[in-house]
Amino acid sequence: VIERHEQAARELIQDRKLQLYIGGEWVDSTGSELLDIYDPTTGRKLATAQAGNDADIERAVTAAWRGFETWDDKSVAQRQVILSEIARRIEARQEEFARLDALDNGKPLVEARDDIDLVVDHFRYFAGAARTLEGTTIPAEDDQHIETVREPYGVVGQIIPWNFPLLMAAWKLAPALAAGNAVVLKPAEETPLSLVEFIREIDDLIPDGLLNIVTGYGPEAGTSLVEHPRVRKIAFTGSTEVGRGVMKGAANTLKDISLELGGKSPLIIFPDAALDRAVEVAIDAMFYNAGECCCAGTRLFVHESLCDEFTQKFADAADDIVLGDPLLEKTEMGPKISPRQVQRTERYIRLAEEVGGRIVTGGKQLEDGRLAGGYFVVPTVVEGTPHRTRVAQEEIFGPVELVFEWSDYGNLIDRVNDVSFGLAAGIVSENISTTRRAARDIEAGNIWVNQYNEFPAGQPFGGYKQSGIGREIGKETIKAYTQTKTLNFKVD
Ligand code: NAD
Repeated sequence: VIERHEQAARELIQDRKLQLYIGGEWVDSTGSELLDIYDPTTGRKLATAQAGNDADIERAVTAAWRGFETWDDKSVAQRQVILSEIARRIEARQEEFARLDALDNGKPLVEARDDIDLVVDHFRYFAGAARTLEGTTIPAEDDQHIETVREPYGVVGQIIPWNFPLLMAAWKLAPALAAGNAVVLKPAEETPLSLVEFIREIDDLIPDGLLNIVTGYGPEAGTSLVEHPRVRKIAFTGSTEVGRGVMKGAANTLKDISLELGGKSPLIIFPDAALDRAVEVAIDAMFYNAGECCCAGTRLFVHESLCDEFTQKFADAADDIVLGDPLLEKTEMGPKISPRQVQRTERYIRLAEEVGGRIVTGGKQLEDGRLAGGYFVVPTVVEGTPHRTRVAQEEIFGPVELVFEWSDYGNLIDRVNDVSFGLAAGIVSENISTTRRAARDIEAGNIWVNQYNEFPAGQPFGGYKQSGIGREIGKETIKAYTQTKTLNFKVD
């Protein structure tokens, strides 16, 4: 198994020494610190990237302002053509990009293909949305003519996590470029491979400096980008804890921010739910991407009338998930991203047990000698944890579902909303009035009804409460990468 996987990895990554991309060129960092990229399926080293520093961010920001000038000279129609062409190029190599993300992140190929489809969809959507930015005229006295126009910020900084490597980059890049900005982007330490390949694919299409990639550690390259005075906006996706620091850092130079942060999302099963469909939705909500989804449905509220039967069926379905090499077609769940995330997940499972939780299935690492060295945790279902406990309140970011029984609707909604997060929620019921009422009562930015994890471009995505500020992937996102300029003419 490992040998076949390593062979596939060798074919996929030709260049194992990654460089920074600044001003349209591949360059070394001014420092000597390196960043090792590991294969989560085997635990072995895949490649080495450069750990960008302050001076690299400085170079990238300067290059980005030059890139911005060229981009700003282009008409919106020219920008639209380029963004559409980016979509076409990625679509043409969909399989290769999917395999790179499967290798680097450990997500199964079937899911990685979905990611790349969405990358293409996002560039296409924002290519069109570029044409929709409009100003206004304001009613005024006869001798005044007031109008507004929307202008790009200039250079924006973007920081992304590792759970959807190329898709998170697309969520950030497509609207920023469509609105007319240049970008300095810092990918996650763990997963730069597909982004580097993306740049190689599209660099003949874009002006030098329009897009700059600085790999590196969050506290160094990330902080430097957040605090840089000539970066006019920061868009960040990652944990709530780091997001809080990003907001403070951005305050030093008072730059605009958008934050997509963590979650502890509920999935509610109503008594009239069709059982098989409910199980299917719950499996998708919890175990997609090995639970490494910001919006994962990690708190499963099941009506008492079906709780026992549902929990058993759900646990059986969780047991049936095929774990293994993400590059194989039959694999339904791959490894977690790092040993740190495995330990974190295990810590929360122990916490659940300490407060009286009963493990229905899972609760351990994969016992498969062929994949020894990989970071695998088996799908885990726990029932009986009190809701006001750390394990029920904090984000685990692993394949661990907590099942809660409910009977009274008011008490259900109190518990559903009794967390500091508010990213997403799911509802399963056959009754449209039930679903609408619950959807209105839940404090969350995204509600899925009788399905989960759907992200078509155009559908705004973002969090209530401590799950974030701002919305991505919708029409309003392109506006969030612009600022309003007011023009007031004396007309006599
Ligand atoms: P993380 O916050 O540790 O890291 C995210 C990014 O921030 C990485 O690129 C990292 O290098 C960088 N970073 C770390 N410290 C920094 C600092 N001090 N200053 C600037 N940048 C810094 O998160 P993670 O573990 O990589 O990703 C998982 C988290 O992301 C989860 O909490 C998840 O819920 C969240 N997430 C949210 C969304 C969303 O849309 N809401 C989407 C995906 C992931």
